[in-house]
Amino acid sequence: MAIEPRAGILDIQPYKPGAADAPGVANPAKLSSNENALGCSLKAVKAFETAASRLHRYPDGGASRLRDAIAREEGIDADHIVCGTGSDEILQLLGRAYLNPGDKVVQSQYGFLVYRLVAMQSCARLVSAPERGYTTDVDAVIAAAGDDTRIVFIANPNNPTGTYISDAEIRRLRDALPPTTLLVIDAAYTEFVDAEDYDSGMALARERDDVIVTRTFSKIHGLAGLRLGWGYGSKAIIDVLNRVRGPFNVNLPAIEAGAAAIADRDFMQRSAQHNATWVDFLRQQIGGLGLEVTPSVCNFVLVHFPQTAGKTAADADAFLTRNGLIVRGVAPYGLPDALRITVGKEADNRRLVDALTEFMGQ
Ligand code: PMP
Repeated sequence: MAIEPRAGILDIQPYKPGAADAPGVANPAKLSSNENALGCSLKAVKAFETAASRLHRYPDGGASRLRDAIAREEGIDADHIVCGTGSDEILQLLGRAYLNPGDKVVQSQYGFLVYRLVAMQSCARLVSAPERGYTTDVDAVIAAAGDDTRIVFIANPNNPTGTYISDAEIRRLRDALPPTTLLVIDAAYTEFVDAEDYDSGMALARERDDVIVTRTFSKIHGLAGLRLGWGYGSKAIIDVLNRVRGPFNVNLPAIEAGAAAIADRDFMQRSAQHNATWVDFLRQQIGGLGLEVTPSVCNFVLVHFPQTAGKTAADADAFLTRNGLIVRGVAPYGLPDALRITVGKEADNRRLVDALTEFMGQ
């Protein structure tokens, strides 16, 4: 007889990543997981390979070399950083450390799917605040939060919508939340954003001890396969997270490759430039086909399809897959009429637009 897990665990739907291949199609373009179109830093690859000769050693449990490298590049104090296996892990650690069963957690309507998992793993209640124009509505989040909320998760910018809210709005949110609420600013895509009124939240986290910012190596650094992320917050928050993380949660090659990647400003700059060019291209070209594209500051676009038979998001998804273009259906986010398409290499972006043109013209 199967042994019963803790209450609520079997209600959790495991996270389903975007598809990785298109059955029967050679050379598919994978535009489903917001990975970096340019790959990753060659310096990171070299550091990873060099680390292979030390695989019999445990890594430094505190990842101090990596934290020092991050601190240097970001101009922050290494004691305010905790590293994890992807920013996913930092989000999980926050749930483990701060949520009691029955606690309230608030997110914005189309928030990143992992927030739901984190809440459910702790038997907490997740409340979603309605969005306006596919963007976080700070007033709705404040109204949803009330006095009894333990954590508010805001991805800024957000996946899968690609939209952001200004630093002023984030600060207004923080000011309106009770002092007993932890504000988690998930800044996974922050390096792609080039808006004057935007901030990653790092400045706010430096000022206050009730804010943590989560960051990742999966996007601008192109190291999604390495599983590396970090959090920046007060010493008190970092101390708490250090108590609940695994003793050697970040592996040795990841520490080395991450330290090399964050110092490779040239690769980061090229990635941001490539993205700026092609996210605009996708938006204009797809918009030109009569489809609504939510303005994005990220490395993907959210494309909305009509409900007309033969032209739905599901039809488009199937058509693109048949043509070797793998994109992400976002029905699990409550967006059944949209597809999320990651910026790819030039040839893949053009191929995507050509295929969508053909699909819409049918
Ligand atoms: N936050 C957001 C908003 C994301 O889109 C992602 C990745 N899809 C993550 C966090 C997690 O990234 P990782 O665990 O790879 O660092």
